[in-house]
Amino acid sequence: MDDPRLQSIIVAGGGTAGWMAAASLVRKFGSNRHTRITVVESSQIGTIGVGEATVPAIRPWLESLKINEIDFIKRCNATFKLAIGFDGWAGEGSHFFHPFAEHGLPMSGVPFQHLWTRMHQAGKASSIDAYCLGSQLASNNRFALPRKDERGELLFNYAYHFDAALVAAYLKSWSMTHGVRHIDARIDTVEQNSETGDVTGLVLEGGRVLTGDFFIDCTGFQGLLIEKTLKTGYDTWSQWLPCDRAVAIPCESRQEPAPYTRSMACEAGWQWRIPLQHRVGNGYVYCSDYLSDDRAMTDLMRNLEGPAIAEPRLIPFVTGMRRNIWTRNVFALGLASGFLEPLESTSIYLVQTSIQSLINNFPTRRDNPHLRDEVNRRNREHQEHLRDFIILHYALNKRVGQPFWDRCRAMSLPDSLAAQIELFRHTGRIQAGANDFFRYSSWLAMFAGFGVVPEYYHPSADDIALADLEREFEGMKGGIDTAVEGALSHQDFIARN
Ligand code: FAD
Repeated sequence: MDDPRLQSIIVAGGGTAGWMAAASLVRKFGSNRHTRITVVESSQIGTIGVGEATVPAIRPWLESLKINEIDFIKRCNATFKLAIGFDGWAGEGSHFFHPFAEHGLPMSGVPFQHLWTRMHQAGKASSIDAYCLGSQLASNNRFALPRKDERGELLFNYAYHFDAALVAAYLKSWSMTHGVRHIDARIDTVEQNSETGDVTGLVLEGGRVLTGDFFIDCTGFQGLLIEKTLKTGYDTWSQWLPCDRAVAIPCESRQEPAPYTRSMACEAGWQWRIPLQHRVGNGYVYCSDYLSDDRAMTDLMRNLEGPAIAEPRLIPFVTGMRRNIWTRNVFALGLASGFLEPLESTSIYLVQTSIQSLINNFPTRRDNPHLRDEVNRRNREHQEHLRDFIILHYALNKRVGQPFWDRCRAMSLPDSLAAQIELFRHTGRIQAGANDFFRYSSWLAMFAGFGVVPEYYHPSADDIALADLEREFEGMKGGIDTAVEGALSHQDFIARN
């Protein structure tokens, strides 16, 4: 093997994952002329097409491709997303946000959460959302691009809602312009080297064989290469996340688009509402032990903002992760690598971080099991971190007397999450690694939303007189209110750009 560099990478599947992979790879390796990238997908099979809500990490990813934000928003009918609004999770009629922005400001060097805890214990604090610009813009349906602070960091963060089919088309066109080859054909079988087990080629309908050095499996839930061929195995998490189905349907908009995703707790799961420029995406994620498909469909149809514009689509799923996302010379992305319900819009984000991990640990044609093991180990850590945060939503619910929700409150938790909850309750702290996606402000938003307030705050919060603290908190709220009043409505902001 003279030149160990990969010469041909085949991406199997052209959904969001496949085209994100192709775009990232061609950006990174397209100019070296050694590495040819081909996407093979079947337009007859189609894509899942329901991944419409994102997290802020999507923005630097688009920037890395030098994609213009405004052009992307226009062509993908996108809207802005500042937060997720949780309705009914902390009991009927409750509402709180998980914003992408941080809460409050420190005072005399004391971090905001300690001040808020003190104020809360004294019965003087408003809900934590009152001290967050992102939450307040969201609840008032307004949007403005964030300014940068003196350290050059954005004052608040934001993401997008978009039409998944338009995004796949956008990325396809972008990737092909930058040199990715595209083949529209069904993959019938997968060929392997009889000694090593490596995948050597994909046999397409009609018998043509597409050979490659390295394969990226983006074929959706089935995992045609990683599972059906290489039998990698799947760890299920349904003991903690018992929802196993979703029904999805788009409808006409009847209101101006909100700059946040709505997550409404229902009898046996939750309903999402994702406002786009031209329509609203809706879905009900539920547990089939407690709700029939017919009832889920009826309940969802009853709670649409406008008339449905397509037939409802039933999507069964098994929550969990592929035991290894990298087996032999196959790397799985997207639904082929695992599934976490879209409560925090983590799937597209995970596609992004997995591609980055592949790029950072890029293989050669020489087999290197140590590299694979390390990537798989880190991926597991990362996915379990996301999983724990999603489980937290169910574990802390306050929908007492509803069998599905009672079961969720009573379940035993992964040790990592149980420890996290205890740590927060007693110390107000959380355990977060440098690479963890959900940082302190996310955990704080969830704990506060569910009414979990720590019993401890740092004693230096007591050095500030309560009256001064009250004045400071009122000033903080006033400053946020002024900024919100000065912002355009979300609808106007989109129309003017
Ligand atoms: P798919 O879209 O299923 O694409 C599979 C591709 O493989 C297709 O191109 C298909 O043609 C091709 N293919 C399959 N078999 C063959 C074959 N034999 N031959 C040739 N081609 C083949 N994520 C988020 O980040 N935010 C969300 O809000 C969100 N909501 C979701 C809601 C639901 C109900 C579900 C199920 C998922 C949601 N996701 C969300 C996840 C998100 O949809 C996926 O992560 C994302 O769309 C990537 O999907 P994919 O490309 O892996 O698979």
